[in-house]
Amino acid sequence: MERKQIVIIGGGPAGLVAADVLSPFHDVHIYEKEKGVGQKFLVAGKGGFNITNSLMGEDLVKKYSPEYFLKDALLDFDSTAVREWLSQMGIPTFAGSSGRVFPEKGLTPADVLKKLKEKLILQGVEFHLKHAFTGFDGDQSVTFKSGRNKIVVQSDYFIFALGGASWPVTGSTGEWIKIFRKNGIRTLPFQSSNCGIHISWPENIQTIHAGKPLKNIAVTVNGFLSKGEALITEYGLEGNAIYPIVPEIRNSLALNGAVQIHLDLKPFNTEEQLVQKVQGKTSTKTKNYAEIFNLDSAQLALIKAFTSKEIFLSPELFAASLKQIAFPVDSLRPVEEAISTIGGIDLQEMNPDFSINKLPNCFAIGEMLDWDAPTGGFLLQGSFSMGHWVGNKILERENH
Ligand SMILES: Cc1cc2nc3c(=O)[nH]c(=O)nc-3n(C[C@H](O)[C@H](O)[C@H](O)COP(=O)(O)OP(=O)(O)OC[C@H]3O[C@@H](n4cnc5c(N)ncnc54)[C@H](O)[C@@H]3O)c2cc1C
Repeated sequence: MERKQIVIIGGGPAGLVAADVLSPFHDVHIYEKEKGVGQKFLVAGKGGFNITNSLMGEDLVKKYSPEYFLKDALLDFDSTAVREWLSQMGIPTFAGSSGRVFPEKGLTPADVLKKLKEKLILQGVEFHLKHAFTGFDGDQSVTFKSGRNKIVVQSDYFIFALGGASWPVTGSTGEWIKIFRKNGIRTLPFQSSNCGIHISWPENIQTIHAGKPLKNIAVTVNGFLSKGEALITEYGLEGNAIYPIVPEIRNSLALNGAVQIHLDLKPFNTEEQLVQKVQGKTSTKTKNYAEIFNLDSAQLALIKAFTSKEIFLSPELFAASLKQIAFPVDSLRPVEEAISTIGGIDLQEMNPDFSINKLPNCFAIGEMLDWDAPTGGFLLQGSFSMGHWVGNKILERENH
């Protein structure tokens, strides 16, 4: 079998997995503009390093939007397969009670990246660091800038894995989008996903309560519910209870220019149970409310800021209000700060094997395509699955 030349551009999780699948059979070169590969993967440990999620089958697929686009890739290289692949590299994993999968205690993203790089080097992958992709040069070549030099590289196949646009300091700047647009590939502007939200807080919340967590809450927007924790910040709210409702907030802001979210501070109690706690009680002192409902100063400040005086003057109304504090959301945090982005290459430009229909022998995978998934290990799982799928599809083309 003739060995082909395969150029992978972008050394994030998607590109590295594709290199792993292809390098035993073909000559694989990874071109990366930073001084090291996997820079965004290295920051994935911030706030808990979820390397995949134990959801399987349709339950896994349903976490992705649009579902159809990643379905085959996800089912082919699912979270069990990812864990097996990691384990073979000496990275054992465990699933937490929430389904999030972590590398065993003490293993960091840097350890995982090191093992994967060692494996790729053994399999003959060549790394070309500090090489920024700058354009297409006919059907079979692309150009790079390395220092002051322009380099033209020919290849049988090109796999683009250039990432989205969040955390540009890691190299994922999204600047590549202009090159694709110029070459007639439809792209969509990057937008924040899995990000914080802006709320116009009163001054006391900004100055006194920023940095305090709201634990065990539920948040609803347009009937879509998310449970977990949120952090009060100077600009609004951040955290795992907020990220899953970002797509709904984004859509509503785009459609109507405004959206309200509803905060439930007591998701484990019904309204009736809460009202019962104050039945027959007449005191409307904040101190008493705090004791009866076990509310801290940040929660009380939020209730004060976003409910009317009448509610405080009626124990029953106060009890009921704990389950539905309404805040208007002004906007989403900027793309640069988001955990992930949507936008990038329009999926209509893509074939089921992740080749780009207008560019023969070019493929695109990972966050540079316009799909979305929540945090909890699903983002990395999506990129791993796409890298694996594209690798296998190229092997099939070459009759392996
Ligand atoms: C703070 C943070 C925490 C996260 N935590 C998790 C987590 O715990 N679990 C999870 O599942 N996901 C997490 N994610 C998301 C996850 O890291 C990304 O979804 C994933 O890295 C995307 O992989 P990718 O290969 O598509 O792109 P990237 O990882 O973005 O890689 C793209 C690569 O392309 C390179 N590149 C860009 N432009 C060029 C160019 N012109 N020429 C050459 N190279 C170029 C970049 O330098 C980069 O190395 C986190 C993200 C952030 C920001």
